[in-house]
Amino acid sequence: KPLLQVQQLEMEYADGTKALRGISFDVHKGEFIAVIGPSGAGKSTLLRSINRLVTPTSGDIVYEGESLMTAKGTGLRKLRSNIGMIFQHYNVVDRLSVLENVLHGNLGRMSIMSGLFNRYSEAQKEMAIHLLKKVGLENEIRKRVDELSGGQRQRVGVCRALAQNPALILADEPIASLDPKSSAIVMESIYENCLEQGIACLVNLHQVDVAKKYATRIIAIQKGQILFDGKPEDLTDEL
Ligand code: ADP
Ligand code: ADP
Repeated sequence: KPLLQVQQLEMEYADGTKALRGISFDVHKGEFIAVIGPSGAGKSTLLRSINRLVTPTSGDIVYEGESLMTAKGTGLRKLRSNIGMIFQHYNVVDRLSVLENVLHGNLGRMSIMSGLFNRYSEAQKEMAIHLLKKVGLENEIRKRVDELSGGQRQRVGVCRALAQNPALILADEPIASLDPKSSAIVMESIYENCLEQGIACLVNLHQVDVAKKYATRIIAIQKGQILFDGKPEDLTDEL
């Protein structure tokens, strides 16, 4: 049984832009899928639709047997809490420490302002520190994230997603703002943690060579439609 089913997904923005035109695919536990395609192809819209950061016009998204399209309120929050999101521009909170950023996870800014941070258990803090050590940030744990480089910030973003203990990670161009060395470190940290914990990953990437290096499967998108869905070695150069 698939972890995630994307069925006939269509997305038309308010200005009439058709970003997704009937996208369907299944994701199984532990798959590491690279979504590739030119800028404007719909990759970002696809990932944000799956997490319901945008609401698709039609089609369905079924996560562990439950529809994310019809879920609301607590139900939607519960489904989302199982999905870790990593963004191109990190989405870290500058004035908080590295550890606080990892702990606050998907709770968002409002929760921090209302003092939820104090309620984290020692076990949760230990887990966050364990993750930060694994990605090589053991000396940055108490620093504010605005003291970090881009690559380090993104590793905080990776740990924040992992701290949710997700079954699925959605990474939207996680290395597009990074130099090659930082890109490699960030990709390795996503890849190794997913492999180790059986987490499925959908990662949007510009670079086909990076996609081929890590992915067990590649989905190529153009103009809101799937052009290719298969093994990296079967991807032809024309795409
Ligand atoms: P990609 O991630 O592959 O670059 P996007 O999903 O960002 O593609 O964009 C797909 C298409 O949807 C593009 O034509 C883009 O301009 C358009 N688009 C993205 N976001 C919006 C929005 N909020 N409103 C209108 N059009 C949008
Ligand atoms: P990125 O590719 O880094 O996500 P974009 O420049 O594609 O950045 O988009 C940045 C923001 O602008 C996103 O929130 C996206 O939804 C929005 N956006 C992109 N294209 C359009 C568009 N044609 N009209 C309105 N908003 C758009």
